[in-house]
Amino acid sequence: MEQSEYPPDMQRLIDRVAPGWPPILDVSPGWYPLLVRLDAHLSTIAPGYVLQQCKSKFGSLSFYASPSDDASDYNDEFNEAIRAAEWESIETCEVCGVPGAQYVINLWVSVLCPEHHDRATGTTDRADTKEPAEDLAIPPRSPWHPRQPRVWEDVCPIDADVGALQHAQMPSTTGLA
Ligand SMILES: [Zn+2]
Repeated sequence: MEQSEYPPDMQRLIDRVAPGWPPILDVSPGWYPLLVRLDAHLSTIAPGYVLQQCKSKFGSLSFYASPSDDASDYNDEFNEAIRAAEWESIETCEVCGVPGAQYVINLWVSVLCPEHHDRATGTTDRADTKEPAEDLAIPPRSPWHPRQPRVWEDVCPIDADVGALQHAQMPSTTGLA
């Protein structure tokens, strides 16, 4: 694995990672600038601060760090700087860093600006919206109704229906096809 592909500014955070923790920052590049600012801020408050984990969780930055390698060390200003960056992250596009909002896409919470939201959902590509619209036409046949299947076999060619049915029962997968 090549893990040293971070920009030099971000490498400073990697160098803070405490022994025993993986030297990775599990966030997308849109949050790098806010992390670089956070690192600079924390370094002035606690020059020897230690990072345990930095990741994206439910569309928010999760930054676990301590002012020093002494577990009993506690610093309000240090913790508040982290909280502020975490709040900032929920309004910062993870892809490009401009103002954004949280969205749930394929069961995953992401913070995206309008442009990257449209790209992630294919909203701008009208051809892509065709297929889900056809899937929506299926539910009136009530696939979950126990007595219905017998009727379908008579009305519809069974081969054509099996795939469509499975699709209809799992709406969360429609965006993946
Ligand atoms: Zn963006």
